[in-house]
Amino acid sequence: MSRILITGAAGFLGSHLCDRFYEEGYDVVGMDNLLTGSLTNIEHLFKQKRFEFYHHDVSKFVHVPGPLDFILHFASPASPIDYLKMPIQTLKVGSLGTHNLLGLARVKKSRILIASTSEVYGDPLVHPQTEDYWGNVNPVGPRGVYDEAKRFQEAITMAYHTAHGVETRIVRIFNTYGPRMRVEDGRALPAFMGQSLRNQDITVFGDGSQTRSFCYVDDLIEGIFRLLHSDYSDPVNIGNPTEITIKQLAEEILAMIPESKSNLVYKPLPLDDPKVRQPDISRAKEILEWQPLVDRKEGLSRTLDYFKTVVK
Ligand code: UDP
Repeated sequence: MSRILITGAAGFLGSHLCDRFYEEGYDVVGMDNLLTGSLTNIEHLFKQKRFEFYHHDVSKFVHVPGPLDFILHFASPASPIDYLKMPIQTLKVGSLGTHNLLGLARVKKSRILIASTSEVYGDPLVHPQTEDYWGNVNPVGPRGVYDEAKRFQEAITMAYHTAHGVETRIVRIFNTYGPRMRVEDGRALPAFMGQSLRNQDITVFGDGSQTRSFCYVDDLIEGIFRLLHSDYSDPVNIGNPTEITIKQLAEEILAMIPESKSNLVYKPLPLDDPKVRQPDISRAKEILEWQPLVDRKEGLSRTLDYFKTVVK
């Protein structure tokens, strides 16, 4: 029987990971300081024998009694408005938090997978983004707190791998969506769904010509599961390469709710907002035999069903 620690367990991705590893038969230890996570995402697990939960901030020393075979580090504010509101916490969880968890992995002889991000590529000058692109990040811009924390996280993870022989995995996660995203987290997809359901203006930033590539959460979780069990320690992009403009995303979501009285309105583009983003997933295809299976129509429809239950 394997035991796994998942940080950020009450968040969007963390809670889906808890479910997946629990279903696979693991003993799951969830950890979260509930800064942006919500216990409602994991409350169904509390009555399960193989699940335990620690309310703890991983930026402080992390203590978990007993053996740990695996650690997944998914704790962090992850939406641009969250990390703008919580710049210091964002830097600390990516740096101090990662250091603590690597130390724990070393002591427990656990394999550790850390959640990195397409933000390490910044406003990319290479398109689509391959793992060997080093990125174009403004360290002192508003997004720098997240981007640089994640870049430091990758560096210290690699250092623990080479200097201490810790078994490490690095996933670079591109835009992901699905049930349990917070409707108010400020990201485009939940914002557009919430606004369309409430007949509010749909806030497109800039002229909406910037692009993103959206991956349904189940596909992402499968990619992470495979990466954890691979023997590959360099970074791997996991995302859906189907790219669309933000305006097109807004129009698609609005069209799914024909009764909505919402209209698109245009707001200023935030500073350093990446103009394009699309993962090159050749590495994941080759090493993990992974590729996304859920198309956007299906994924958006499952996600909208969820938002209909939570948007009042
Ligand atoms: N965006 C938007 N309206 C919103 C929220 C976001 O037009 O209400 C834009 C944002 O400027 C960016 C894109 O949508 O160009 C995706 O933003 P998101 O916050 O979802 O994540 P990012 O990919 O920038 O991390």
